[in-house]
Order: sequence, then structure tokens, then C-alpha cells
Amino acid sequence: MSNIAEYVFPPPAVTSLPVAGSTARFPVRRIYCVGRNYLDHIRELGNNEKEPPLFFTKPRDAIVQDGATIPYASVTENFHFELELAVALQSGAYNIAEEAALTHVFGYAIALDMTRRDLQKQLSAKSAPWDVAKGFDHACPCGTIHPVSQVGHLNAGNIRMQVNGEVRQDSDLRAMIWNVPQIIAHLSALFELQAGDIILTGTPAGVGPVVPGDTMRGEIAGLGALTIHVGPRCV
Ligand code: MN
Repeated sequence: MSNIAEYVFPPPAVTSLPVAGSTARFPVRRIYCVGRNYLDHIRELGNNEKEPPLFFTKPRDAIVQDGATIPYASVTENFHFELELAVALQSGAYNIAEEAALTHVFGYAIALDMTRRDLQKQLSAKSAPWDVAKGFDHACPCGTIHPVSQVGHLNAGNIRMQVNGEVRQDSDLRAMIWNVPQIIAHLSALFELQAGDIILTGTPAGVGPVVPGDTMRGEIAGLGALTIHVGPRCV
């Protein structure tokens, strides 16, 4: 008897992220994202300030490791960075109460919600889904996950983005409209959250374009830095 599963071709690899202080890696299940979670960013894009949290997803194989070079995305002339705090879950459920939400958090990381801004604007104008603007290949660079046991829970602290050494985003996690427990509570009403899920919590003001040759560096107090290079157009 063979215990080798039979597939018509090899199944995709597990997507994983490094964990600070451990040789074991964090296996990624799903990537959820919150849109419009900092007031100054809502205002810079001209959106409504009084909406409930807006969620979208990225495919897990859009993850890119720290230090990598990503291609300049195809079919865009306005390829944007959005620096975000990522929350990594060690467990989950439906309908998690705010008061219990943090018990499901394994750790935190720095992530980039890379965006085809021109397509996102066109899609939003048509009330169409954002997938091709947000969920494309290489659209989710994510750094090392720092366990709660080492860094505690992050509800305040500087979040700062540099492109080629120039500061482009400079805010504080306290400026989030929906905090991490509230995000988990809302999201778990829509999806059964599970271990391995990652939640990007939205970006502050200052989003903008990058071009081939740029180096992006995101920093969040307590989490170190995430560095990603922009390479030539992929097609
Ligand atoms: Mn975002």
C-alpha cells in the first residue's frame, strides 16, 4: 500500500512566513484585508468616513518574503504601496466577541497591501469587485511574524513607510478607526476564522506610486522592518 496521495499534478506548496525566535514557520491559510481604516487615508481618497469596516481578500500565494524583489505589476500605470499592520491568528471561530478576540492572535507582522490604484478606482466607480486591483500575484509582501509572547499586543506605535529613504507614510496604530479586537469581531461574523489566517488592518495616509528600481521599507514600532524592491514590469 502506498501512502503517496494521487494528484493529477503536484499540489501547490504551503505558503509560510518566518517566526521571530523560532525555526518553525507560520503556515498561511487565508489573507483578509480591511479597507479604509485610517481617517486621513479615507479623506485622501475621498471616501465616506462613517462606513462599517470594509473587507476584501488576497490569495495566500500573493505573499512575498522580506527582502524580495517584486515585479512592477502588469496592467497598471499607478502601482501603489499601502503599509499595514498584519495580525496572524493561531485559532479562530465564528462570531468572536471583542473581549475574546486577542486570545486568537498568535502575533503581528509588517505587510504591504500592493494595489493597482488605477484599476481600483475604475472598479470602485462601477461598484465592481476589487480582486484584480488587490489580489494579483506578489500583492502581499509580509515580514517576520513576531509572537505575542515576545512583543505583546500592538494597539499603539509608529507606522512609517519609506521609499528610497524618503518618508511617505508616518502615522500611529492608534489612528485606526477599527482596532484589532473590533476587526476580528466583525470579520468573524462573515467568515469562520481559523489558525493561519492573516488580517491586514488598513493603511494610513500617504499612499503613493512606486516605479521599477524603487526600494520600499516599512517599519512598525516593535516589529522591525520589511524591505521590498520593485523590479521591472513582469510582462
Ligand atoms: Mn489596504
